[in-house]
Amino acid sequence: MFMKRRILGAALSGTLLFGAAGVSSRPYQEVGPQQTPVEAAIDAFSEARQYWISQNAGHAATRLIILDQNESFDCNYGYRTIHASGNEEVAFYCPDPDAVAITRKSLDAAEAAFPGQRDDAARFTTFHEMGHAVQFHTSGQDVSKFIGDYGQDPVSYELQATRYAGVAAGQTLSNGELFGINLYLDTDPDQYQWTHGYRRDHAAAFDAGVAGR
Ligand SMILES: [Zn+2]
Repeated sequence: MFMKRRILGAALSGTLLFGAAGVSSRPYQEVGPQQTPVEAAIDAFSEARQYWISQNAGHAATRLIILDQNESFDCNYGYRTIHASGNEEVAFYCPDPDAVAITRKSLDAAEAAFPGQRDDAARFTTFHEMGHAVQFHTSGQDVSKFIGDYGQDPVSYELQATRYAGVAAGQTLSNGELFGINLYLDTDPDQYQWTHGYRRDHAAAFDAGVAGR
């Protein structure tokens, strides 16, 4: 899997030729060294934010918070406050204050778990959390409703966030970056995660978003 990526990265200087859904003819841009996970998260956040602003999804106030070790962030989820710590491996969207919070520790863990795909993991995570921001912004910016909608069917809500991630990523990332995210999502496709469901379903939801479905 990683070998395939290196071959593609080395061989392609013009148009990427593989046939992932919705990925067609934009130039392959990822030619230098990979970004660090934090750089990738910051870039992805900037791209996603600009895209959703252009779609009037209301991301002008959304912030990205990278939590370093021993830093903390309090998020109001309505019925309770989440005290997120930089000492944990977490990434989440917070409706109040409107922010995507990712710990450096979680980015480092992704780097360790997916060597060679560390920036792809960071990029996907950021686009996914921005998908949750779309859910919040398009449901009246009502924290209680946001939490209620999530609680009714967490897996569907998570898959929708991933589809939104695909929509924004498909419009803003290079083919190489999209390919990297596909590789990342294809890792352990049968893995089942509480609230998120099957990883393979997220891969399909991301592709559907890229393809504009
Ligand atoms: Zn999520």
